[in-house]
Amino acid sequence: LSASKLLELRERIDRESGELPTVDLATVRLGPPVGQVGKVVCVGLNYKGHAAEARQAPPEEPVLFLKAADTVAGPYDDILLPPGSQKTDYEVELAAVVGVTARYLTEGDDPLSYIAGYAVSNDVSEREYQLEHGGQWDKGKNCEAFYPLGPWLATADEVPDSQALHLELRVNGEVRQSASTSQMIFGVGSLVRYISRFMVLYPGDVVSTGTPEGVGLGFDPPRYLAEGDVVELSVSGLGRQRSTCRRAKVASEGG
Ligand code: ZN
Repeated sequence: LSASKLLELRERIDRESGELPTVDLATVRLGPPVGQVGKVVCVGLNYKGHAAEARQAPPEEPVLFLKAADTVAGPYDDILLPPGSQKTDYEVELAAVVGVTARYLTEGDDPLSYIAGYAVSNDVSEREYQLEHGGQWDKGKNCEAFYPLGPWLATADEVPDSQALHLELRVNGEVRQSASTSQMIFGVGSLVRYISRFMVLYPGDVVSTGTPEGVGLGFDPPRYLAEGDVVELSVSGLGRQRSTCRRAKVASEGG
């Protein structure tokens, strides 16, 4: 909501007997449900089927990489295709949002007690940038708006078993990814404990727990996103994202 819209709503609440007004969601932009994400810690190859389609062995320890916090976008924002990109890809993932500072957890600690809640996320990836330009995966993971998050954050008490959620992603209505979080190689709790060995997890940090099979890269020939494609993704109980793919603005267009 814009500041002026918020102000208008507050005035209406004050005027009209303190009752909350309703808002037509079609008329506003929804931002991500976490306000101050410090970092997004992503887990690569955390489903056997996805490791296989990426022609990688299932990892013996979690594969970690970071997405910058400024890649976080709203759940209905456009997916921005970088100029000239031919290999922009989608990845539905369960996002776990940290609620309590977690440092150097041991086997005696309950890692799930450090999680505030869960949300749907899309770890948008440009495969050419990720895999064909040397170095690490960062080049393909940090383009503008490459991490739509939301629509809402379900608090941890509303998600009694984060390893029993159904993930689904459709492109133009066609189901591309359909899997259960029970298929993760490393579960959410063990990921939080593992990550805390290498970096401090602060409230607002996001752990993106990996994607199952069915990404564009996994098809033969690959099926990447194109301008105008509509990507819809959901995780059971966590709502549904809907994004349209559009060309990103370039420097000469300002902004
Ligand atoms: Zn991912």
